Amino acid sequence: MPANKYAGVVVDQVHPSLDKLFHYSIPENLAGQVQVGVRVQVPFGRRHVQGYVLSLDDEPGVSEEKIKPIRKVLDHDPALNSSVVPLITWMKAEYNCMMIEAIRCLIPPGMRLNLRGKTQKTAIISDPDQVDEWVRAVEGYSAGMASILRILQQYDSMPVQELIDLSGASRSSIQSLEKRGYIVIEEEDIYRDPWPVIHGPTRPPVFNQEQEAAAKKIGECIRKGSGIILLRGVTGSGKTEVYMKAAEDAIALNKQVIVLVPEISLTPQTVSRFKGRFGDQVAILHSRLSLGERYDEWRKIRSNEVQIVVGARSAVFAPMERLGLIILDEAHEDSYKSESRPRYHARDVAKKRCELDGAVLVLGSATPALEDYHRALLGEYHLVEMINRADYQALPPVEIIDMRRELEMGNRSMFSDTLYQALNDTLSRGEQSIILLNRRGYARFVSCRSCGYVIKCHNCDVSLTYHAKGQALKCHYCGYTEMYPKVCPECGSKYIRHFGMGTQKVEEELKSLFPAARLLRMDADTTGRKGAHYKILDAFEREEYDILLGTQMVAKGLDFPKVTLVGVLAADAALNLPDYRSCEKTFQLITQVAGRAGRGDRPGRVVVQSYQPEHYAIQFAARHDYTGFFNREIQIRHQFNYPPYSHIIRVLISGEREKELIQFAKNMVKWLKKRIENTDLLKKGLLDLGAYQAPIGRIKNKYRWQVLIRIRADWKFRDAYHRLTDELDGEFYNDSLTVALDFNPLSLL
Ligand code: ADP
Ligand code: ZN
Ligand code: ZN
Repeated sequence: MPANKYAGVVVDQVHPSLDKLFHYSIPENLAGQVQVGVRVQVPFGRRHVQGYVLSLDDEPGVSEEKIKPIRKVLDHDPALNSSVVPLITWMKAEYNCMMIEAIRCLIPPGMRLNLRGKTQKTAIISDPDQVDEWVRAVEGYSAGMASILRILQQYDSMPVQELIDLSGASRSSIQSLEKRGYIVIEEEDIYRDPWPVIHGPTRPPVFNQEQEAAAKKIGECIRKGSGIILLRGVTGSGKTEVYMKAAEDAIALNKQVIVLVPEISLTPQTVSRFKGRFGDQVAILHSRLSLGERYDEWRKIRSNEVQIVVGARSAVFAPMERLGLIILDEAHEDSYKSESRPRYHARDVAKKRCELDGAVLVLGSATPALEDYHRALLGEYHLVEMINRADYQALPPVEIIDMRRELEMGNRSMFSDTLYQALNDTLSRGEQSIILLNRRGYARFVSCRSCGYVIKCHNCDVSLTYHAKGQALKCHYCGYTEMYPKVCPECGSKYIRHFGMGTQKVEEELKSLFPAARLLRMDADTTGRKGAHYKILDAFEREEYDILLGTQMVAKGLDFPKVTLVGVLAADAALNLPDYRSCEKTFQLITQVAGRAGRGDRPGRVVVQSYQPEHYAIQFAARHDYTGFFNREIQIRHQFNYPPYSHIIRVLISGEREKELIQFAKNMVKWLKKRIENTDLLKKGLLDLGAYQAPIGRIKNKYRWQVLIRIRADWKFRDAYHRLTDELDGEFYNDSLTVALDFNPLSLL
């Protein structure tokens, strides 16, 4: 086959006008090396830039005389393996990103910076059979050289430094041996181990019936090479063991596995369990690794030295070539969605990769995202449920405390009588407690401490948001505004206010209530440094502390057998965020944190404090009733046309000049209206469209407005609107404003 003469290259420059293939000729001396996926250096204007070859052609694509040759091929192996190349065009269409932004997801930043992986000098014996002879030749005048040869006779090769340490010989002995040709010195890659914790190997437990059935279903799909499984298993049902069995099945078929966890530092136990079971077959990828560490892990995966990758969101791009299985643990977590460009969702990228590679996707959760469960019920996913804990322990009973009554009874403390007593009992039994302070939504909505009334919009089913500027309450779906009331519109009480309560304040109160308790706080302030999460969780696991107090961070994935009490403060804080997902998030949070109690042999207990104890999200969570919650919530979504019954497209515009910004947003709406008016499909798909100030009106001196488009949930409308937003991207590019487009954003704040 004659070699291709031309290559289409994406240059490593982020600018919309450069988001296309540039054509270069392939010089003869590089003909064998230029393939799809390789990183190259090409002339660009007056400079040389990096780029990636995405196509090979026989025709130049532009006029022959304009074309320039590729200058260099930068890596030995293609940076992008063939199985991930199709993801680039898919991401461009799906997330309105540039090709180079998609490519940058697929390669480690260390590679672009041409960081060299760490290497070390290694001595290798040239011919083991001749060692006796060589030893006789040198031992008369150099004991060191002889000793080196003896060691290498036994080990064949050894890093030079270790060899010096072990033999006691000098560096010059090594050099002499090299000169004589007895040994050769080579640079060998060394990989830094980013998970240096030592684990004994663990054995799989004997599965219960539900685990058996789940593993069987996943195994069948893996052998078939297709399928998406939604694994809903209550907290402690033994999902992680099922994941590990699935991984084993895939590896047995010579396939590779990606395991995604919401955030590595918060789920050290999951990582440790995979490392413990699979040892060196596991690589770990996450954003807290140094660039060098990340590059090391990536190269290990790229050269097919590992079978399993465990990592956070970005690990969905791991360069596996024989992918057979992707697992998303706690698949409902928001951290799977990227909040910066490209705004991808790891679940959707995983789906696409599985489709391209003939792999199986497992979405595991105790509280699946509403849209995922909805899809499972529609038959798009296989639904597998595990409703019992692994060894049939009971799920802990949950008591809901009405904090309005506490106030009536004169208790102004943050702790109800019940929670105080429960903490006291737990401490005196020498057991551990977790206290969760729900900070999401803190200080943003206004409610009455006397009757629980929350001020809502007249036009929409969302609470109004407090804006400190002008003491106003606003709806950011429709723009409705009213003044901050002096008394509760419902009961006339003057205890109406926006809420504020921080972990530090709770810590102080706990200290004064239980001076002898050993208290550990985990929040954004105490976890800034690298490794801080791990240290905190580790200390708690080793029972150096009695109470772990924290924000959402303490709700996830932890398996501590000594924890018998979980307390939740301000359980309802997030219920009133101006967000259609606030009930779902609240239900998930309470169910998840409740699941931390009673995982050992002692029964657990959960106390949830709330100002809206009758709210269905809290009631269903207290009963551990996922399907009850689902049925109720999906009805509301249907009624108000929220996802999954609609898609929301948000264009967030931010910039320093407010007037210009508002005009820009209004022009955008005008332009959209006109385009929609003139296209039948767009018109049919539209639910509503408008420009509004964002609920957080200014961040870091930049004003924020958003254009919201809500459309009917149907693929044909979705595609039509994708094409519209593509056009919009080109039409409304502006150097002084930031325009961020997001399909189904997780938050509208
Ligand atoms: P999940 O991920 O669903 O919360 P885990 O996999 O963490 O559940 O399992 C909860 C606990 O039960 C763990 O300590 C695990 O070792 C244990 N476990 C899992 N499966 C079994 C089993 N079949 N028999 C006994 N213990 C089990
Ligand atoms: Zn009131
Ligand atoms: Zn409204």
